[in-house]
Amino acid sequence: MFGALEAGGTKMVLGCLDDSGTILDRVSIPTRTPEETMPAMIQYFQSHKICSLGIGCFGPLDLTPSSPTFGYITMTPKLPWRMYPILTAFQDALQIPILIDTDVNAAALAESQIGAAKGLDSCLYVTIGTGVGGGLVIHNQPVHGLVHPELGHQLLCPVPDDPAPDGFCPYHKHCLEGLASGPAIQKRWGISARELPQDHYAWTLEAEYLAQMCHNAIMSFSPEKIILGGGVMQQDFLFPLVRTKTVSLLGGYINHTQISEGLQNYIVKPGLGIHSGLLGAWLLAKKALESN
Ligand code: ADP
Ligand code: ZN
Repeated sequence: MFGALEAGGTKMVLGCLDDSGTILDRVSIPTRTPEETMPAMIQYFQSHKICSLGIGCFGPLDLTPSSPTFGYITMTPKLPWRMYPILTAFQDALQIPILIDTDVNAAALAESQIGAAKGLDSCLYVTIGTGVGGGLVIHNQPVHGLVHPELGHQLLCPVPDDPAPDGFCPYHKHCLEGLASGPAIQKRWGISARELPQDHYAWTLEAEYLAQMCHNAIMSFSPEKIILGGGVMQQDFLFPLVRTKTVSLLGGYINHTQISEGLQNYIVKPGLGIHSGLLGAWLLAKKALESN
């Protein structure tokens, strides 16, 4: 049995999966402090007798194997977890092979291997939820680079009639997360994204910002598919809005049938539903065992 952990800033999703990826058990526990939450997670994995563990974790993370702080959660605004050695903590307690990557890289890996981008060489997975983050898979490998991509903090062009054109990120003015995350929608309009009616101008604005991100991603990486997940994308009507605006922003510059067809099969929902992250962690667990 493989252990999988989708470590999020609000909740931890823990699962046990068999070799074929069937979820045999899955629990969710709130993310409190490491002192409270780690023992509960360790106890769960110990009691299920897993052979290896994959972790898709909120970031930023240190993923450079030669670094003295490899496997640490680094500059997170969730202060109790700042500079927390999550990888070593699990290694010390469980003594089994473990692999860690960002939550969005794990989700992108799963979508690429067994989800919406199966059979393709590349894809981009973006979650629009409490935060905005993106994982990029190229040649079937998640991209890390210098640290790892922080797609949610790319700067966008604020829309002139946006009542909050600077957005709400404590680090940057008008970055994607600050403009388009679930909490940004709530702060701008005073209503939660879940309750905003479909005809509210908020959604025109949201689609505009997500389309700017898609445009930038297409121009920067040319992924073969863009997968949009996270709570905000539960609003299905956003997909056609984002596709139309993306085609418009591309301005006829990219010549491909995907674009002339209107991006229906290009900007899509996760093929694995809400399980992309957990299944990505399972793929990491399998890889951990193989490479051991
Ligand atoms: P997290 O990012 O914390 O893992 P989610 O992806 O569910 O979790 O994102 C939570 C955010 O998404 C909240 O800000 C919430 O307002 C928003 N959200 C959740 N469900 C919906 C929905 N059905 N429609 C619109 N927004 C939603
Ligand atoms: Zn930012």
